[in-house]
Amino acid sequence: MFLTPHTSAALWISTKVTDPVLAFFLGVISHFILDFIPHGDEDIGTHKKTKRGRFIYMMKVATVDFILSVALIYFFVTRQHEYSRPALAGAVIGAWIPDLAWIAIENFKMTSLYWYIVWHGKIHNAFGWRYSPVYGVPFQIIVTLIIVRISL
Ligand SMILES: [Zn+2]
Repeated sequence: MFLTPHTSAALWISTKVTDPVLAFFLGVISHFILDFIPHGDEDIGTHKKTKRGRFIYMMKVATVDFILSVALIYFFVTRQHEYSRPALAGAVIGAWIPDLAWIAIENFKMTSLYWYIVWHGKIHNAFGWRYSPVYGVPFQIIVTLIIVRISL
């Protein structure tokens, strides 16, 4: 999934726990639970013919996704006062790290950690059901809005 729905899960966690370490681990777990749901973003960027073209496209998508995530955190902290700030930091890092690790391993060609990329990919494809981003993006927006709603 995009970082934005993962971020929404971190917001929710910060309303439930105060311990940042616990929040971190719950953030990591929430990441894999969300990724487990078929979410229709695997084919993003596949219309680009070259590897470099795809990389640039993905970086643009990631930039928008990152900005939306930060905006979502800002929206949350300016409206919700019943949350733990340390837990929010821990949960956000935990919710983001599974994808940041993946990007880092691939980019820096850390071959000894490729098993992680394979494992992360298996979670994404647990049901072997892929569908178009045309449905995947709205689906992820709805998931994000529902989680944000229950966090406020
Ligand atoms: Zn992921």
